[in-house]
Amino acid sequence: METLRYDVVVLGSGLAGMRAALQAARVSNGALRIALVSKLHAMRSHSVSAEGGISGVLYPGEDTVDLHGFDTAKGGDYLGDQESIELLVKEAPSEIRFFDHLGVPWNRDSEGKIVLRAFGGMSVPRTAFAADKTGFFMMSALYDNLLSFKNIDIFHEHYATKLLLKGNEFRGLATIDLATGEERVFLSKGCIIATGGFSRIFGFTTTAYSSTGDGVALAYKAGLPVKDLEFTQFHPTGMIPSGILITEAARGEGGYLLNSDGKRFMENYAKSKMELAPRDIVARAMITEINQGRGVLHEASNMMHLWLDLRHLGEAKIDERLPMIKELAMKSLSINPAHELIPVRPVAHHTMGGIHANLFGQVLSGDQGPPVEGLWVAGECGCISVHGANRLGSNSLSQCVIWGRMTGEAAAKRALSKSDYPALDEVEVELNQNTKFLERLLSGGGTENPYSLRKELWNTMDTYVYVYREEKGLVTAMNKLKELRERYSQVHVEDKGRIFNTNLRDTLEIGNMIELAQVVVAGALWRKESRGAHARVEFPKRDDANFMKHTIAYRTDDQPKLSSSPVKITKWQPMERKY
Ligand SMILES: Cc1cc2nc3c(=O)[nH]c(=O)nc-3n(C[C@H](O)[C@H](O)[C@H](O)COP(=O)(O)OP(=O)(O)OC[C@H]3O[C@@H](n4cnc5c(N)ncnc54)[C@H](O)[C@@H]3O)c2cc1C
Repeated sequence: METLRYDVVVLGSGLAGMRAALQAARVSNGALRIALVSKLHAMRSHSVSAEGGISGVLYPGEDTVDLHGFDTAKGGDYLGDQESIELLVKEAPSEIRFFDHLGVPWNRDSEGKIVLRAFGGMSVPRTAFAADKTGFFMMSALYDNLLSFKNIDIFHEHYATKLLLKGNEFRGLATIDLATGEERVFLSKGCIIATGGFSRIFGFTTTAYSSTGDGVALAYKAGLPVKDLEFTQFHPTGMIPSGILITEAARGEGGYLLNSDGKRFMENYAKSKMELAPRDIVARAMITEINQGRGVLHEASNMMHLWLDLRHLGEAKIDERLPMIKELAMKSLSINPAHELIPVRPVAHHTMGGIHANLFGQVLSGDQGPPVEGLWVAGECGCISVHGANRLGSNSLSQCVIWGRMTGEAAAKRALSKSDYPALDEVEVELNQNTKFLERLLSGGGTENPYSLRKELWNTMDTYVYVYREEKGLVTAMNKLKELRERYSQVHVEDKGRIFNTNLRDTLEIGNMIELAQVVVAGALWRKESRGAHARVEFPKRDDANFMKHTIAYRTDDQPKLSSSPVKITKWQPMERKY
């Protein structure tokens, strides 16, 4: 096992992680050594697939920072911590301009102003975009800039297997270098976890196979609390049957949703916003249409769907604003959206919950703190509770880069004030346990095929934990997940080699996904109300009296142990959501 010492280690190289590494490098002025560790090649991180854009009030006037905050709080069904929302909306414009300076080719009008497009739940258009490839351009700009810093070392294809803590302080990370199978431990003065979301616990999802929530699971398995995991967002327009995303920008540019009668049904659910109501409302409406017999059967997959109509936008607009959508529809369905309807249904897309953290992105060790020294989160893996119960589209990229910058800066400043690196012997016991666990996987006989476990996990989540959830289905899911967790202890890794052992990596990811799915279901059973992305059939209304609180979960050897923490309301008092 190789031991490396760094001042700051950033785990994850998506938008949040790369922004954190860049800021740490800028603040340190060459004085700190920074490691950027990623299970993928950095540029294959899921953020590259972000399509529609990033929100922020660039041109105040009709739009204001306060209005952005109000939309976000209301869109999140008032579960968002409003001091976090205030920070998001205040900092977003300067981050968009920062990326402008890094070279992102934002769409502009004839006067050179950055064009803004409409997104769901936003009162006015406030989403900056680079066609429908925003994530790719932002990631490329970051990566190019990172490469110019000599004090950042990038460890591509290093899979983190354990978070190493001593008491309430961060010490290091255990990883496997996937290319060689060698274990490598990073001892560091501070760490930012930026490992992305966990929508891959569902089979029908827009997200990459890599979105398995490893960082959230690492924290959870290290005894740290996770928050609001039951709030899993279903994006209205997942293409049938793959689940590939059609960005909300397609509706922002004027696209319609139609039922089997060819009607724009959203007028019955959100008369003023129509297709641009928040995602939770549109997704619920779509499933109601399907349940009431106005869906269409896709025979090859046996999936029911509705239609997305972009035909009236015309080919020229689609080519300028939505070129990737056109390419995806043509390649995967042989459909040209300028002439034909696209079959869509709600699809797992984003996880609002994550590692429990405070406003500054510091990871918390209990329901209400204290922070774990030297440990931060940024991006989708952390729950700073900006999005509450339902994220508004294009707010995620803002969140990633703002908290990336803040946590990168905080970690660098802390490292500058500390002279010593953690000592290896402080974490030797945990490291040995970790090595033994990996050796057992590689040498043991186990009987359970990990891919069968994953298939059963996906079936369970897609069937019982989808847009509408009910007690009976959730109990079935809970029992099934308990069974899967038990069977996982007998999991069999077929490939015993060391070099690029993707079978081992998949097996570790599957274990993490089962753990997190248990928390999602436990929270969904506990939360007897409908709020944002969590809709309970028996409890169709939001219940502020009993559930205006965050769900906190801790790992045990059986079911997750649940508790709660208060929601911070500052300026936007909860009200009934009407659109
Ligand atoms: C198709 C799609 C389109 C989207 N479009 C938009 C949009 O237009 N606007 C918007 O605001 N939001 C959008 N979102 C959401 C947004 O893209 C994500 O929330 C955001 O990109 C997450 O970034 P991140 O940096 O947190 O994580 P990611 O980009 O997912 O990166 C996670 C990183 O962690 C690393 N990692 C994970 N586990 C390990 C491990 N065990 N060891 C080592 N490394 C690990 C990965 O290698 C990766 O580098 C979209 C989401 C999807 C699915």
